[in-house]
Amino acid sequence: MFLMRFGLLTLLLAWPAFAGGPLVVLDPGHGGTQEGASGPEGIFEKNLALSIAKKLKALLEKELHATVVLTRDRDALVHLSERVVLANKKRPELFISIHANSMPTAQQRKLNQGIETYFLSAAASGEEAKKVAARENAEAGTQPKGQSGDTLSFILADLQRSETHVDSSRLAYAVHEALISETGAQDRGVQQAPFFVLMGLEAPAVLVEVGFVSHPEEGRHLSETEYQSKLARAITAGVKQFLAQLEARDGVKP
Ligand SMILES: [Zn+2]
Repeated sequence: MFLMRFGLLTLLLAWPAFAGGPLVVLDPGHGGTQEGASGPEGIFEKNLALSIAKKLKALLEKELHATVVLTRDRDALVHLSERVVLANKKRPELFISIHANSMPTAQQRKLNQGIETYFLSAAASGEEAKKVAARENAEAGTQPKGQSGDTLSFILADLQRSETHVDSSRLAYAVHEALISETGAQDRGVQQAPFFVLMGLEAPAVLVEVGFVSHPEEGRHLSETEYQSKLARAITAGVKQFLAQLEARDGVKP
């Protein structure tokens, strides 16, 4: 009896958040004076990220009846910590940050391509992951504005124990597998690193590096509308898969 009542109570408490479909916050990386990575033909990460995020928003609304909030919907500078504050205010079911990669030297630019999907951890999963986080964090200075070192270490220490962290890893795998199978891009794996834009988020959160703007072929693909739509379709499929996993676990239909 207690279990039944508890189950019903959980459902009732969870219901308003899910009514009318899930709430999703999408975060197109960079913007304004922060251009992010750039490719040989004048391709900027900030533009790609926004374009993919808009396509993804439309698909999530159409296919999942989701309510989708963008941390920026135009070419504007938004501080990393403001993105986190905005997302937490909305209390979303999930958060996805969209970025693209690049390599510094001509040799590396020719060789490196593929997709990486990240979730937050205090330590990076490898040297490359560490460099990616350092590059993506650069626009914030040394640490998120308004967060002291103590707050930061608290957040990071708390991370491993939280259910949200486990769900972030689930979301990362679901989105990553869909991206690789849909695009046929090189699989650079699900990785972990200390991204400022994922720190302090109270929802399952991932950061996707959709490809290398610096690679001659992949860079060209990334600027094409059709390929961007493919990426958006794949991420939508991954989100669907993730929400189905949550539903199976919690018994609440998004
Ligand atoms: Zn970026």
